[in-house]
Amino acid sequence: MSYPSEARVDTAAIRHNIAVLREHAGGVPLMAAVKADAYGHGLVPCAKVCVEAGAARLGTAFIEEALALRAGGVTAPVLSWIISSDDRLDDALLADVELSAGTVRLLDDIAAAARRTGRTARVHLKVDTGISRGGAPAARWPELVDRALAVQAEGTVEIVGIWSHMACADIPGHPSIEVQVQRFDEAVTLAEKAGACGSHVIRHLANSAATLTLPQTRYDMVRSGIAVYGLSPIPELGDFGLRPAMTLVTRITMAKRVPAGTGVSYGHMYVTDRETTLGQVPLGYADGVPRHGSGLLEVLAAGRRRRVAGRVCMDQFMIDVGDDPLSEGDEVILFGPGTNGEPTAQEWADALGTITHEIVTGIGARVRRVYV
Ligand SMILES: *Cc1c(COP(=O)(O)O)cnc(C)c1O
Repeated sequence: MSYPSEARVDTAAIRHNIAVLREHAGGVPLMAAVKADAYGHGLVPCAKVCVEAGAARLGTAFIEEALALRAGGVTAPVLSWIISSDDRLDDALLADVELSAGTVRLLDDIAAAARRTGRTARVHLKVDTGISRGGAPAARWPELVDRALAVQAEGTVEIVGIWSHMACADIPGHPSIEVQVQRFDEAVTLAEKAGACGSHVIRHLANSAATLTLPQTRYDMVRSGIAVYGLSPIPELGDFGLRPAMTLVTRITMAKRVPAGTGVSYGHMYVTDRETTLGQVPLGYADGVPRHGSGLLEVLAAGRRRRVAGRVCMDQFMIDVGDDPLSEGDEVILFGPGTNGEPTAQEWADALGTITHEIVTGIGARVRRVYV
């Protein structure tokens, strides 16, 4: 036993969620986003479960993450999409990692890496249809397509995909949704006319929210992240039958009786109003329990929900269980699927004014990932 805390990852839940997503995808293949350590769930083990469950491809933000997949023995197709010219492009090509390019400059750098390594670079051309992050704006799209055709003709690059990313797919009815679909169609049409969008080229646009609610965004593949891990991309529309995969568990490291009027944790934000039992929970903001959750977040301990008593510290926080029995070693569930009365990551996100992505990706390296 090293650290006392575990993120238990329910691999059956991930399989179930992939099945739910594939059903919504209406027959087109699914790319599972496994960036950020599979949203905190553990990169390689989760990637393997996703592939076994039928994900056709994996997606990472960075080449480094894709190389970690390869080092872990994952052979499925992988696309990385936040790439810079000084990146490990050669290593990516040698490891059969597909790369996104949204600028002529990056495309040229990728082609140069292909010449150096003798590998054909498999590239997904990215068009910005309205999120204004990576991706060529409409005005630069024709030159990106032309340059891609030129390096494809010389044999260094193969155009594998044309893609874009949604800005507001999680806001039902947002006017930008149809605008993005229309712009994507226009970009695809331009590429088709130029001869850069043959029948083998994969067009992809949808994230989890779009996969579950916007069938017009499916094209040839959907890319899902948060829903793979069982968290709803649009909580106000419900859970879509998804099952949260992560349960964050730890053990009480100390329990003690204290008198009324005892100030608890930094700043004495919490003062006991009676003689009571305090429990020390060995997880803090360095582990992904946000300090904003001081006096706010709930956990399940000694059979009931307990609110964090006072400040969340770097490595720990306290709970007040009153006169209920509590001992060192007792289990504390911070969040999970909610089936045993514990809070959900969604409840934490709601309490903190954020989204579940930030909760699960925030779980730190001192928390062991265990697969059940
Ligand atoms: C993270 C990401 C996804 C997955 O998004 P979810 O909302 O988690 O489904 C898809 N595409 C890109 C480009 C991403 O960065």
